[in-house]
Amino acid sequence: MKAWLNHDHGAALRCEEVPDPDPGSEGLVIQVSHCGLCHSDLHRWRGISNMGSRGVVQRPRPENPVAMGHEIVGEIVGMGTAVTGRRLGEKVIVYPWFGCGRCRACLSGADNMCREPTRSLGFGNHGGFAERVAVPHERYAVPLGDLSPEQAAPLACAGLTVRCAIRKIEPFDPTEAIVTIGTGGVGLTAISVLHALGHRNVIALDRDPSRAAVAVAAGAARFIATPEGTTSADLIEALGGKVDTVLDFVNSSQTATLAFDLLGKGGQMVQVGLYGGELSVPLPLITGASLTVRGSITGTLDDLRDVVRMARNGQLPAIPVSVLPKSALNDAIHRLENGQVKGRIVLVAEGGDLAA
Ligand SMILES: [Zn+2]
Ligand SMILES: [Zn+2]
Repeated sequence: MKAWLNHDHGAALRCEEVPDPDPGSEGLVIQVSHCGLCHSDLHRWRGISNMGSRGVVQRPRPENPVAMGHEIVGEIVGMGTAVTGRRLGEKVIVYPWFGCGRCRACLSGADNMCREPTRSLGFGNHGGFAERVAVPHERYAVPLGDLSPEQAAPLACAGLTVRCAIRKIEPFDPTEAIVTIGTGGVGLTAISVLHALGHRNVIALDRDPSRAAVAVAAGAARFIATPEGTTSADLIEALGGKVDTVLDFVNSSQTATLAFDLLGKGGQMVQVGLYGGELSVPLPLITGASLTVRGSITGTLDDLRDVVRMARNGQLPAIPVSVLPKSALNDAIHRLENGQVKGRIVLVAEGGDLAA
């Protein structure tokens, strides 16, 4: 099959021939029709992580490049001999974050917390920038039903990631302010999932004032622009006081500091973005105000099923999606890198042939 491979960090992906995936006895092979482009693809493509004062970590050049892409919708084209109850041609959304299947985290359904080296699609195995992907068990293929594939693809990362992060702040009072930072694909999806869960007081922050309309359309009660130079004191004044909960979908030194400063007594911040940098805070404040600082990485298969159910029930306000042919993948990466994407880019296979 053909796959777009990342031979050098930051260089154009190249479309090449790679071996076809094998479903094993319990798995499936899925022909990729749609694949979202996520900021974590960008991080992997660039190969660097900003660790703040600990420096910038540069990952080695990949010896065996893997096709990225983990927001996958497609059709079942191959099944292991032990698979029952699925049919060829069935359209599915793929859970890409599968773990080893044996450790305590995996056995409890939290594949995203597996301690083994990742087998996730687009990381340890070829993902949706290849023609076909394999999942090791049929449970990782969630029926698409009547959802549009363009809207459904981002649920496999953006959707389940925000569902998992929101689970960490439940239960919440639907009228109590929740501040979200960042209105990219994941931030907008968070606003929309909170809305679907009945929350009615999301205050969305973004440094770009032109994001106000999409944030409100996704369900935010209010939007506050935070251009360069916005101080914590400015924001606390604009909010009318401190808040209990901040979800940070950027997670840079600046946004994390802002999130921390906004927290009132007993407040909690959940860091979801991968922008990088570091958080330096006065320790007595953590104790004195009983604050919680925590992280959240992707989500579980149940989180995916939950957001798919919400979307099927018509509860999720749709986020903007730009559809591009898969041959425009390199251009799409540059658009995302330059902040030119509102919502999500979803790449579509052209007649099953991914060659440019
Ligand atoms: Zn992602
Ligand atoms: Zn595991």
